[in-house]
Amino acid sequence: MNSLVTLARAYDFAAVKHIGQRRKGDAGEPYINHLTEVAALVAEATGGADPDLIVAAILHDTVEDTGATPGELAASFGPRVASLVAEVTDDKSLPKAERKRLQIEHAAHASTGAKTIKIADKTSNLRALAASPPTGWARERRDDYLNWASEVVARCRCVNPWLEAQFDAAAAALRGGG
Ligand code: ZN
Repeated sequence: MNSLVTLARAYDFAAVKHIGQRRKGDAGEPYINHLTEVAALVAEATGGADPDLIVAAILHDTVEDTGATPGELAASFGPRVASLVAEVTDDKSLPKAERKRLQIEHAAHASTGAKTIKIADKTSNLRALAASPPTGWARERRDDYLNWASEVVARCRCVNPWLEAQFDAAAAALRGGG
């Protein structure tokens, strides 16, 4: 299928699946803003060379955070998109600390595409923490997130220098943000 049509369908699918969800920050941005940002980062980082990767970026949280299933993604967007999303999906049946540990452990073995999505995802999350910190997040909790995200990204490096620089800038802004 024409990749622009697929892209439009992916945005629509994500908007419907994440309907009503908001980011954790005080501004309570609609969740779709996170997905458009991650997809834009991936698209810019890759010059749009890999449409499946941008589609997977749009859909990257649908299995983890909505009722979407891997089979549904495979049927609608193809097996490669479903597999990229699966690579960046945490097993929510596990305790949070274990999920976070596994993300660090799995990152190094992820495909180049999954690494690209992970760096873009963490960049978007750090930018959001700087722009609109969640109420009740003390400095320490923000630093914990920053350190964990940096560990994940450290294992994803050498896939895209431009994208890694975006992450580094977001991390530096958060560190300098007091
Ligand atoms: Zn995400």
